[in-house]
Amino acid sequence: MDLNEELVLANRILYERGVVDGFGHVSVRDVRDPERFLLARNIAPALVTAQDVMAFALDGAALGGDSRTPYLERFIHGSIYRVRPDVGAVVHNHSPAVIPFGVVAGVTLRPVFHMSSFLRGPVPVFEIRDAAGPDNDMLVRDESLGDALAASLGDNPMVLMRGHGSTTVGRSLPEAVFRAVYAEVNARLQAEAMRMGEVTFLSDKEALRSSAANAGQIARAWELWSRAVSVSS
Ligand code: MN
Repeated sequence: MDLNEELVLANRILYERGVVDGFGHVSVRDVRDPERFLLARNIAPALVTAQDVMAFALDGAALGGDSRTPYLERFIHGSIYRVRPDVGAVVHNHSPAVIPFGVVAGVTLRPVFHMSSFLRGPVPVFEIRDAAGPDNDMLVRDESLGDALAASLGDNPMVLMRGHGSTTVGRSLPEAVFRAVYAEVNARLQAEAMRMGEVTFLSDKEALRSSAANAGQIARAWELWSRAVSVSS
C-alpha cells in the first residue's frame, strides 16, 4: 500500500477507536528517505485524505516548498525520529484515560493485560516545566521541546505528557496505532482495577514474552480496523 494511503487509514482508525478527536496526529517515516517524515497538514485526523499529507525534515521544516499550515506540535515527530532509528511511526494524542497517569504522583501506567504488554517499563512522564520552565503553554511548540520529549521517551514505546496527553511509537504504522489503541484501553482497565483493590501487573518476563507473541498478531487488528474505516468513508 502507498505510504500516504496507509497514513490516511491510520488517522481514521485512531479516530474510530477514540484515540484522537479533533486533535492529535500520526506520522510515518519516509521509507525512501529516513531523514524525512510524512504528516498531514493542520486538519482533524478523521478528515485527512492523501492530498493532505505533507513531507517534513526532522527539524520540523516543511519540504518541497509546501506552504500549507502544519500542526504546531510536529516537532514531537521529528525529534523522536532523529534519536530513535528503530521508530517508523509516531502517534501523539490526548486520549482521556491515560491523562490521570501523567498527573498523579506515585501512580505509573503499567500493563494490566497481555494486549498492552508493550507498556513494560513503567511508562515515563514528560514534565514540560523541566524543559520550558513555569511560563509554558503545555505545547511542544519548538525543536528544543521536541528534543526534551524525545529524551523523556528514551528507549520506551510510550511517554506520558503531564497535563497534556501522550506519544506512542512503533516500528510501523500498524504497530504504533495498535499501541496507541491498547494504551488507552489499558489506562481504563488499570484505573478500574485500582479502584477495586491491589493490582497484579504483568511481570517483566510475562510482558516481554507477550509482546513477542503480539508482534505476529498486529496485522490482524490492522486488517479489521482498516475495513471498518474503509466501509464508512
Ligand atoms: Mn498535543
